[in-house]
Amino acid sequence: MALTSALPKTYKAGAYLVLSPFVVPVADIVISISCAGPHEPWEVITKELRTPAPNEVLLRVHASGICNSDHFVAEGTWPGISYPRITGHEVVGRIAAVGSALEGDARFKVGALAGAGWNGGYCGRCEYCRQGEYWTCATAAVTGFTFDGGHAEYMYVPGMAIVSLPEEALQNASYAELAPLLCAGCTAFGAITTTKWKPGDLCLVQGIGGLGHLAVQFAARCGLKVRRSTPSHPVSKRDLALSLGAHEYIDSSTTDVVSAIQALGGAQVIICTAPYAKHISAILPAVAKNGTITLISAATDGPVEVSNVLMNMNRATLHGFACGCAPDTEQCIRFSTLQGVKPMVQEFLVEQFTDAYTAVMANKARFRNVVVFP
Ligand SMILES: [Zn+2]
Ligand SMILES: [Zn+2]
Repeated sequence: MALTSALPKTYKAGAYLVLSPFVVPVADIVISISCAGPHEPWEVITKELRTPAPNEVLLRVHASGICNSDHFVAEGTWPGISYPRITGHEVVGRIAAVGSALEGDARFKVGALAGAGWNGGYCGRCEYCRQGEYWTCATAAVTGFTFDGGHAEYMYVPGMAIVSLPEEALQNASYAELAPLLCAGCTAFGAITTTKWKPGDLCLVQGIGGLGHLAVQFAARCGLKVRRSTPSHPVSKRDLALSLGAHEYIDSSTTDVVSAIQALGGAQVIICTAPYAKHISAILPAVAKNGTITLISAATDGPVEVSNVLMNMNRATLHGFACGCAPDTEQCIRFSTLQGVKPMVQEFLVEQFTDAYTAVMANKARFRNVVVFP
C-alpha cells in the first residue's frame, strides 16, 4: 500500500548514532550531530518516510517505553547491532500503512491500535519454531536491536511482530500507560503464569521497580497472596505497595525477610525483579517446600548464589523467564484490560529523551519512563 497524502514526508526519531569508517549512515537520514562511537550522546534525527516493504506494517507511534535493555544498544554490548540504531521495544501506536503482502488481513487495518514488543519476529521454519517455541527461534529478531524501534514518530514493524491491541485497552489507560506492558508487563505476567502455584499461595516479589510494581499487580489479581520485599524505601512506598494489590510490605533494610516469610511457612512463589544479584541471593532461602523461584531481572552485577541444600531439601525449583512473542503480549494486554493492571509512567517528549533514559539507568524512574508522540 502506497503512503497516503495525509501522511507527512518526514518524522522525528531518537537514535543512537555510531559513525566509524565501517558504518555509513544510509542516505535518507539527516543527522544533526555525528557521534564517534559507543557511549556517545543520543541525538534527535529526521528520517524520510518510505513505503513499507511487502511484509512490513508502518506504525504511527504514540508512545514508546524506555526499557533498561536499551543500554545494550547505547553501550554496544549486544552482538551484531549495526548503527545508527533507534531503540524502543515497548511501542503503542496505530497502523498508518500496510505492506502489499499483508493487505486484506483483518489484523492490519489502517487506523487499528497496534504495538511492537521485544520479539521482532521469528522464522516459523527452524527446529525451535516447528516445536512451537517461537521465542527460541534461531534467527529471532529483537525490536530496536535488529531493526529500528519505536522511539520515533513512525516505525516499520515486521507483520509477524505486530501486537494487536483491543480498543477497549484505552478505556482506562493512555497510550503511555499501555506501552510498558509490551516488555516489562509481558515479562512479569509471563513469569507468573509460567510458574507453578495455586490461588491463595504466598508470593514474594523482590524489588519495587519497573518490573516489580507490575509483578505485584499481576500476582495479586491472579489470586496469590503477595508480599513485596524491598530495601530502604520510605513509609509511602508501603502505601504504594498496598495500593497496587500487595497484602503486606516488608522493608528488607529493617526486617529479616527470610525469617519473616519462613515464619509463615515460606513463599510458594518468589519473583525476583530488581537487578541486584546479592539482594536476590539473600532472599532465596525464603522459598517454601516445593516452592518456585523465578528470575526475571537482568542482574549483571555478579552471579546469583544459591545453596544446593536449600534447593534439594525443599524440592524447590529455580526458574528463569524472559519476554515472549506477540501472542503472549496480546494475552498480557487482555488480562491487564480485564483486571485493571496499569503501569505507573512518566511521559517525555523525544527531545527530552536523554533525561528520561538517564533516569532509567540511574534507577530513578517511577516506574517506567515513556516517550510520547502526541
Ligand atoms: Zn525491555
Ligand atoms: Zn525459527
